[in-house]
Amino acid sequence: MTAFRRILIANRGEIALRIMRACRSMGIETAAVYSGFDRDALHVRQADMAVPIGPAPARDSYLNIGTIISAAQRSGVDAIHPGYGFLAENADFAAACEEAGIAFIGPPSSVIRAMGSKAEARKIAREANVPVVPAATESDFSKLGFPILIKASAGGGGRGMRIVRGAAEFKEAFAAARGEAERAFADGTLLIEKYVEGARHVEIQILGDHHGNLIHLFERDCSIQRRHQKIIEESPSPAVTPELRKRMAEAALTLARKIGYTNAGTVEFLLAPSGEFYFIEVNTRIQVEHPVTEMITGLDLVRLQIEIAQGGKLPAQPQSSTGHAIEARLYAEDADNNFIPSTGTLHVWQPPHDIGGVRVDSGVEEGTEIGVHYDPLLAKIVAHAPDRDGAILKLVFALQHLAAQGVTTNREFLIDVLEHPDFRAGNAHTGFHLPPRAYDDAGRAKDEICATVASAYIEHTEHAQRQILPSIPVRFRNNPYPSPAMKLSINGREVESHKAEASVEILHVEPGRVDAGVDGIRHQFHIRPHGDQYFVHSNLVQRTVTRLPRYPRRAGAGSQESANSPMPGQVLRILVTERQAVKVGDPLIALEAMKMEQTIRANMDGVVKAILVKPGQIVAPGQMLVEIQSTEDAHVDANANRSATNR
Ligand code: ADP
Ligand code: ADP
Ligand code: MG
Repeated sequence: MTAFRRILIANRGEIALRIMRACRSMGIETAAVYSGFDRDALHVRQADMAVPIGPAPARDSYLNIGTIISAAQRSGVDAIHPGYGFLAENADFAAACEEAGIAFIGPPSSVIRAMGSKAEARKIAREANVPVVPAATESDFSKLGFPILIKASAGGGGRGMRIVRGAAEFKEAFAAARGEAERAFADGTLLIEKYVEGARHVEIQILGDHHGNLIHLFERDCSIQRRHQKIIEESPSPAVTPELRKRMAEAALTLARKIGYTNAGTVEFLLAPSGEFYFIEVNTRIQVEHPVTEMITGLDLVRLQIEIAQGGKLPAQPQSSTGHAIEARLYAEDADNNFIPSTGTLHVWQPPHDIGGVRVDSGVEEGTEIGVHYDPLLAKIVAHAPDRDGAILKLVFALQHLAAQGVTTNREFLIDVLEHPDFRAGNAHTGFHLPPRAYDDAGRAKDEICATVASAYIEHTEHAQRQILPSIPVRFRNNPYPSPAMKLSINGREVESHKAEASVEILHVEPGRVDAGVDGIRHQFHIRPHGDQYFVHSNLVQRTVTRLPRYPRRAGAGSQESANSPMPGQVLRILVTERQAVKVGDPLIALEAMKMEQTIRANMDGVVKAILVKPGQIVAPGQMLVEIQSTEDAHVDANANRSATNR
């Protein structure tokens, strides 16, 4: 047995941090790799050393085998952990590690290669007498009956799949799937399977060591998916009896034995409503949802992976698990808009804490940029309780006490799924989906509460500061306080803040916080201002409230406008120069206020006529910072000037 002294982690985000935790607990040093986009990322700062591997796009960095192998050599590691995604299931990468004499923490490259093709994996499964989904070829697909599923043999992450419900659709779907598979996986091989309707996704966690031992760690039910990718996973499966569990685990181990499986892996099955189960694929790596298994077994799967790679022996086959665990994947994506990934800055990140039996695995922090280059997974929240109802309750509670703002997330969607009667009853299968959330009275009421809280906060901070800084002249306004009805919007809708009439009573305001009575019950709201945005969150509700320009005008209309400081602060940087052309939304001034950097933006198109402040200067609320002249007026002036010089 060779103990590793240092491991390179060929990944990023939450899984890189997760692997680092295991290494730390074993006294193993870690080397991170990072793209240009991840220069300041958490995984870089938490590693013992870090190696740059290229620009942001994954194919130029995290997917570049040569660069990663040379990073491993330069940093003098004994082993590489690939995590999941990226190169984790790339047989060429595992082979390159083997050639370079670096231990690859995963199965042998030959096993990865065989299982990387779903078609090949099916063949091997059949030879091992493991039931597979009925399949066909391009010429005899109609024998399956509809619906059928076309999928990329080399696919993963649910990408490149098409359900075909009638013969007429087949040709086009097949051609489209082929193109997609070629582009995404550089392999156009397709698989045509019977689409098993109403099936559950049930998978068996397996582990094999280099001494001939193979064990399983029970099942995970991952039936809640969107776009064929899992979002909620649990164990035990509400649909699996002890007898079925035994049969599925035996099937998984039979297959594993046949292919000489070592290290951690997952054998995925579909469990049909009839009770039959069918093999679909093997994932030859640590899985996103491995914490579910860790919570019901008390084992550390990443540690076991490392021990196996070092030549260690597996523990004995566990006979039982403890309690129930459920994981929810928090993604930066818009559940109301086809789950499109959302990008931006995560301004607020407050994971739940001090909830017994709740684990949060995340790779983000406040200020993290969520870009377009990588998977938009923000965090995994996992709850463990003695029984399923308890675990669901705890997970909902944890998600309600989690604040993630600045990018759109699926947090509310996850809560809705967990609270859905079909999920609660344990009946949800892979066809389960929720319609987009309706904007109903309840949603409107929540918007109004947040708008009211935000407007109270804005008025209070502006007013309070005017009293605290009396020596600073406040720009004259006809109606200094209370300010004219403030215009606020939430999700693009203008929302009235009915301070007087709504059943919201403002009880206390302090920096970052408003206490308000809602229908006579006192609640605490946390507020984080960022420019004209106010991130409001409480355990009741989370909203981003945007302050609209006080005197809205169409872009290009009107003549003169000024950008005023919304709150007291200090000028950090001037972002424009005089006579510079600006458009609505362009940054003008960086201001430090409420201990945060705020950007003051133009609210009309035009040119900068005058900059009225200097860096370092303290400014009062409402103080004029920059004067902007509309483009049309500027033209008139410029023409006047030109004619003056011509003359
Ligand atoms: P699991 O099978 O582990 O439950 P998924 O099927 O969702 O999880 O896929 C594993 C992870 O790998 C996901 O986060 C997925 O988005 C990610 N992934 C898949 N392909 C790529 C890729 N080309 N680059 C980066 N990440 C990827
Ligand atoms: P990936 O490699 O993208 O994870 P899988 O073959 O594991 O692809 O399938 C992902 C998901 O797609 C499954 O969990 C299931 O929901 C659905 N799926 C795959 N094959 C079938 C099938 N034959 N019938 C019904 N659903 C399927
Ligand atoms: Mg799969």
